[in-house]
Amino acid sequence: MWVFYIFVPNFNFMSNNPSKELLNIYQKVIKVRHCPWCGSEEFVKHGKYKYTYRYKCKSCRRTFLPSTGTSLHYIHKKDLFISYAKFIQREGMASLKKMCKRFEIAPLTAFDWRHKILMSIPLNDKNFLSELFMQDLWFLFNQKGRKGIPNSRTTGNDPIFLCDDKYKTRILSVKDNVRGEMKLSNVGGLKKEHLQRLFEKKMKQIKIITCPDIDCFKDFAKKRNTKIIDFESKIKIDSKIRSFNIQNQLFKIWINKSLKGVATKYIAMYCNYFLGFITHSFKPFAQSYLLQKNIWPFYTLVEEFYAAFVTKYTSLEYAFPTKRKWKTSKFYYLKEWQFRY
Ligand SMILES: [Zn+2]
Repeated sequence: MWVFYIFVPNFNFMSNNPSKELLNIYQKVIKVRHCPWCGSEEFVKHGKYKYTYRYKCKSCRRTFLPSTGTSLHYIHKKDLFISYAKFIQREGMASLKKMCKRFEIAPLTAFDWRHKILMSIPLNDKNFLSELFMQDLWFLFNQKGRKGIPNSRTTGNDPIFLCDDKYKTRILSVKDNVRGEMKLSNVGGLKKEHLQRLFEKKMKQIKIITCPDIDCFKDFAKKRNTKIIDFESKIKIDSKIRSFNIQNQLFKIWINKSLKGVATKYIAMYCNYFLGFITHSFKPFAQSYLLQKNIWPFYTLVEEFYAAFVTKYTSLEYAFPTKRKWKTSKFYYLKEWQFRY
């Protein structure tokens, strides 16, 4: 059985013909609704390209493919990429080393593909409904993989930093009866302004929140006239809060132990993946993923978004920028709410 299993995907990877899966994605899943460059809805077919059509925008005159700007953009071995993403969907996140070996790709490719897939998870802009739980989590500020920093992999684990709020990367986890969100908030002390920025707009219907007895939550609730219930006092009697708490603790273990830490630059994407994986909603080639034509610009500009995050929401200095550059990265249509931070 396993011989068959290994043989079939390899056959597809080696062949120049697109797999049925890839054709299905282009013919049925991806839709062209606007120009990925300028956002205009005025475009026409402009010849064929391999197994799909090319389009031309009547407004900015640029041409594009249905996959332009999606996670499949600029991927040469598309079938291999699809298998890679489906592996992460099915089995969870294996180490990059294991992925390199399994898919016969270079370490940098395994790294790039993983992040491109994680960045393609759609954001949810729906409001929260009744009964809201909130909890804060923290990880040490982590610059794993950044070149030029002495001990960049271990800086985040140095006990010197453990007691200092300044180095705490804050994640806010929120859940109502239907769905949850985990958001990268800031690095440093947690304040009501951070909660307001991330959740205020989505909490119009919320009158009561269950949260830890700390100032940022109390200030946030007071400001918006919300009743608060103490997390600790309810955890013993409410199984929903217990499972919410367990989920958050599992996230911490996954990041710290299984992945041996994640760079602060990428942790927001790992939050989205974790929630998607445990709720079985992580489907990297579903239409909602492939309708997003702004994955490529976000992916190529992630260092700039990260620099802005460090400058705005930490008291640390942004230093040692990564040197990688991609072409055409700045000329896409990207709205602010679509940022991943
Ligand atoms: Zn255009």
